[in-house]
Amino acid sequence: MTDDIYGNYIVGQWQGPTDAGTFPVYDPATGAVVAEVATATAHDVKHAINGAAAVQPMWGTMPPVERQAIIRRACAIMTDRIDELGRLLVREQGKPLAQAIGEIQYGIAFLEWFSEEGRRAHGMTIPAGTATKRIAVLKQPIGVTAAITPWNFPSVQLLRKLGAALAAGCTMVAKPAELTPLSALEIARAFDEAGLPAGVLSVLCAQEPYEFTDVVMADPRVRAISFTGSTEVGKILMRSSADTMKRVSLELGGHAPLIVFDDADLEAAVTETMASKFRNMGQTCVSVNRIFVHQAVADEFRERLEHAMSVLTIGNGLDEKTEVGPLVEPAALDKVERHVADAVAKGAKVLLGGNRAKGADLHSDQFYEPTLLVDVDDSMLITQEETFGPVAPILTFTDETDVLARANATPYGLSAYCFTNDLNRAIRMSEGLEYGTVGINDAMISAVQAPFGGMKESGVGREGGPLGMEEYLETKYVSIGQVR
Ligand code: NAD
Repeated sequence: MTDDIYGNYIVGQWQGPTDAGTFPVYDPATGAVVAEVATATAHDVKHAINGAAAVQPMWGTMPPVERQAIIRRACAIMTDRIDELGRLLVREQGKPLAQAIGEIQYGIAFLEWFSEEGRRAHGMTIPAGTATKRIAVLKQPIGVTAAITPWNFPSVQLLRKLGAALAAGCTMVAKPAELTPLSALEIARAFDEAGLPAGVLSVLCAQEPYEFTDVVMADPRVRAISFTGSTEVGKILMRSSADTMKRVSLELGGHAPLIVFDDADLEAAVTETMASKFRNMGQTCVSVNRIFVHQAVADEFRERLEHAMSVLTIGNGLDEKTEVGPLVEPAALDKVERHVADAVAKGAKVLLGGNRAKGADLHSDQFYEPTLLVDVDDSMLITQEETFGPVAPILTFTDETDVLARANATPYGLSAYCFTNDLNRAIRMSEGLEYGTVGINDAMISAVQAPFGGMKESGVGREGGPLGMEEYLETKYVSIGQVR
């Protein structure tokens, strides 16, 4: 039980529980209830859209420098309370505290960057075909937008969308994941205190996503939807956006290959593999899912990786020593176990881990040991579906053309990594990999100024950088005639 009850933030007001009741948010490290959250109803969502639509003309025409001032105040408020926000994020999601604080700092960096970019969101003039005409191209906010975010990065996933939308002059109604709604509500609190006009942002929570999506997708005033989550749900939203022809930005699942050639710096390759694989317990869309190692260096790479993995500390994310926390929910453990069992049944060997982690300091059943699998092949589930857990599967190869084909043999196309010291090979691989982001000798690719997004079934659109801003802007061509 908990005394903490969070309301929804709707058109500048905090609204506590109604007849719809509340739902619990659990700490994955202990199973304790962190807080109860009021369930938003369809009526609440409509009210939020009404509020957003009413304030849109004012927010959309406010000088960008004034919008920037409000966004920067919210940044300062969140920076002041970063420890408290970090601890809350750990309690609802499970990741180690340093990573939680890093996530919030990264989110704030998005706000700062977009608040600057909003001042540069200008159009252009184009020479006309006759002396009596002028062609102007305007960039205007697309209008009311909606955001749906996942549980794996409860803070930055919302801040990245919100930063671009607000800076572009758009209003937003947002729904965080039901497992981790608290960080999003704290973001709303920071913006409220920063003086964001009522209605520009509403954050609504519900255990059943359709309470939110059914209303948002049917409302023609919502002009764009930005979603981060699974490919399955992304497809549902893309289909349902057709009726009102909303713009969709979809950041979906991934299945990242990491390829280590025999000329690579193995120490760097292991360091980057560790960072990519074990950040957030492997629950990231850009996490390494298939580690392809050239046969000639496979033994050495495996030994180094095994050593690095064997010293990882498992525990509650609030403990400073923890490097691997709990997975977010029991179903996540079931999926990891299914992938490992399938791999073993098809001939893979477990070199390290392979079980749920137990211990006197581990107070829930949601910890999984860092697990190293070898003799993995392309027929196994783990090489086809996202595992979203701390499992590193090693596959081997001998030929560049062959490994490139294997790396691309997936419906996903979010991120891929390649380790080589051969410049020509690096160029060939970066051009040949069918992924929205390719890291060459780099597997930590996040950057606020870069366009992040997927190819194929990993999504449409880009977040971050100038292209991230474009998702929230309409392009209008104005033709002026009879100029004398
Ligand atoms: P999910 O798709 O189940 O949920 C994401 C959000 O969608 C949540 O807010 C959820 O409430 C909502 N949702 C669920 N079902 C819905 C429905 N039928 N209609 C509308 N909304 C619905 O995904 P998840 O399990 O929370 O997150 C993990 C997935 O997200 C993974 O596949 C991961 O790769 C992906 N992801 C992608 C990125 C990226 O940037 N590409 C980043 C993080 C996570």
